[in-house]
Amino acid sequence: MVSDESTKIYLDYAASTPLDERVLAEMIPYFGETFGNASSTHRWGQKAEAAIETARARIAEILNCQPGEILFTSGGTESDNLALIGAALAAYTIRAAHHVLISPVEHPAIARSARWLAKHFGFDVELLPVNEYGLVAPEDLKARLRTDTALVSVVYANNEIGTINPIAELAAICNAANIPFHTDAVQAAAHLPIDLARLPVNLLSLGGHKLYGPKGIGVLFVRSGTTLASLMGGGGQEHGLRPGTSNTPLIVGLAEALTIAHHEIPRHSARTIPLRDQLLTQIPKKIPGTKVTGHPQQRLPNHASFVFESVDGNELLMVLDSHGLACSSGSACKTGNPEPSETLLALGLEPQWALGSLRVTLGRTTTQTHINTLLAVLPQAITASRQLERAP
Ligand SMILES: *Cc1c(COP(=O)(O)O)cnc(C)c1O
Repeated sequence: MVSDESTKIYLDYAASTPLDERVLAEMIPYFGETFGNASSTHRWGQKAEAAIETARARIAEILNCQPGEILFTSGGTESDNLALIGAALAAYTIRAAHHVLISPVEHPAIARSARWLAKHFGFDVELLPVNEYGLVAPEDLKARLRTDTALVSVVYANNEIGTINPIAELAAICNAANIPFHTDAVQAAAHLPIDLARLPVNLLSLGGHKLYGPKGIGVLFVRSGTTLASLMGGGGQEHGLRPGTSNTPLIVGLAEALTIAHHEIPRHSARTIPLRDQLLTQIPKKIPGTKVTGHPQQRLPNHASFVFESVDGNELLMVLDSHGLACSSGSACKTGNPEPSETLLALGLEPQWALGSLRVTLGRTTTQTHINTLLAVLPQAITASRQLERAP
């Protein structure tokens, strides 16, 4: 008998990716014999420290920055929090700056942290405008910078709609005004080469599990000269900005995962772009009452997203799951939440459209057959969930 699992098709790589076997193999020794505390002086500690510094150097080489500019954190969320809150508090202490500019299409790790800064520290948090595709225009950023702007944060590639922002231009504007600029590159890093010698950002967040690495590990790039307040007290690890005993196996795994992802970017994109484009063109043709969300071209190579009129996104996901198809509605964190996504509302969509969202994200093992199956199942799944909507 064919196992049920073999018929399941995973199309939710923006929520998480499976751990690459090569990454797991690199990590295993550091769960076992090389268990020492990297801060210890003896040889057990020295071995762990050497592995961490090798990992840091590998990551710095790929991103084209200095090893000392790479901090390890517990993931994308912590990197975003440390960047936003750390830079805001430092700017407040140094120059009494209390204005924070973010886009309205940020991941909750930025959006909610900004609200936290407003609530507990009285920061004036302002949302930049975006167009119907979720893009921030450089002129709009320029017009809103103030002398008391503590920092600006704009997502590199959005998790819900896949749109890629003009980060180099946005960062250059902040650079010229001497205001720190952060970008959340957690989604972007798996698909776009990042060259920090050319990209004038001060701070950039990465996470392991969105690029076939382990969960619970991330990087914050902090350009030399950028001041952050530390948010935790503890040992002096990671320049005192991220104290706590270093997680050697996860750090080693992240370096390996990023190295593999970096080398596979051109091949991976060449394979997923035609599959993605089939979804973007065929789904609106097959299903009346459909809109593509996000930019038609300036988007992640593995990302297709839609809204359907008069559909409950969560119901649609359950219908698709019953056909063995795993997709997402907006961001994974929204599951069970009947509120329309803030990102989709920021694009100007009506709530009754925004509630019917679908995100399909492709990965290394996605095939044409998987896409054909989704294209065959989706029209009937939409019809089924529209009938559910109409039921009393
Ligand atoms: C997943 C994600 C995060 C959070 O990363 P974790 O490592 O899961 O904490 C932040 N930003 C974006 C854009 C993401 O997609």
